[in-house]
Amino acid sequence: MNEQELISTFVGAQHVRRPDVVLGIGDDGAVTQVPTGCELVIVTDTLSEGTHFPKGTPADALGYRCLAVNLSDLAAMGAKPLWASLSLSLPVADSQWISDFTRGFFRLAEEFEVELVGGDTVNGPLVVTVTLHGCVRRGHSISRSGAVAGQRIYVTGWLGEAAAGCRALLNEPVSADGVTKRLVDAFLYPQPRVREALDLVGLATAMIDLSDGLYTDLQRMLDSSSTGAVVDVGRINLSPALRSQSGETEALQLALTGGDDYEICFIVPADRAKGVEEIARAWSCPLVYLGDTTVERGVCWLRSGSKFDMPDTTYEHF
Ligand code: ADP
Ligand code: MG
Repeated sequence: MNEQELISTFVGAQHVRRPDVVLGIGDDGAVTQVPTGCELVIVTDTLSEGTHFPKGTPADALGYRCLAVNLSDLAAMGAKPLWASLSLSLPVADSQWISDFTRGFFRLAEEFEVELVGGDTVNGPLVVTVTLHGCVRRGHSISRSGAVAGQRIYVTGWLGEAAAGCRALLNEPVSADGVTKRLVDAFLYPQPRVREALDLVGLATAMIDLSDGLYTDLQRMLDSSSTGAVVDVGRINLSPALRSQSGETEALQLALTGGDDYEICFIVPADRAKGVEEIARAWSCPLVYLGDTTVERGVCWLRSGSKFDMPDTTYEHF
């Protein structure tokens, strides 16, 4: 398959046509119309074989995942996704692989009405870069730095499942039982929290998406906000699937430091907490209240009220 055939495959597989795309794939550059009253938010993320995903990852999953991780970043800014560009470095242009990759990519693109407006294709090691543009109402983006002391910290979803799934994937052969499949799918097909994050615009004072694990990413957000926190890890949802494969301590460790969760962690003023919890009832993922921000810097980690010592193991994936 040559480059032209490859680009035609992408064009043929795309069904989203956004009215704000003036000129899409096929010219030297794309032209788009920024919605009135909005600011652009631009994110980019690269997935490199052997670093961000293991060799042999299904092409469908890679196509899905390269967009999912970018949607997650954009969500964490409170932005609505609009346009993507895709840079592909491929060792070989295998038509079955391309068709699987395309299916995974556009499945998610269609779900969030993202139009692929361009990209680049080169020969080289397997590396996929997506740049995603989104918009927020002027002045309404949610940064990591807007929280102050005395506010509530929340996190979505089932932490640790993706890390357990990644581990299962590496310990081939993957057994076909339902539990392992759920964990592996959490790694390969993370559900970006776009809708949930959009509900938080005007409510959350700070937000971050979890790629390196709650332990690291929460501290990043708190540092940006110049606050500390008291957090109870006993409140974290450890899913039945995760618990069936790991002991309590290991499950908690995966949830805190395993990474690849692509959940959102955010902070809201106490007087908005009830409202946010009410809104979250309509979400398809659980929401957990973890603790509160403090004037004193650093995180005081508790487990059911007692001091919790963070395990010092960090997971090296590959
Ligand atoms: P140029 O040599 O001018 O950069 P290319 O042949 O690389 O042009 O690309 C032709 C068109 O196809 C451009 O509009 C480019 O954005 C698009 N394109 C190339 N690779 C991809 C890709 N992987 N995904 C989406 N669009 C692509
Ligand atoms: Mg080019």
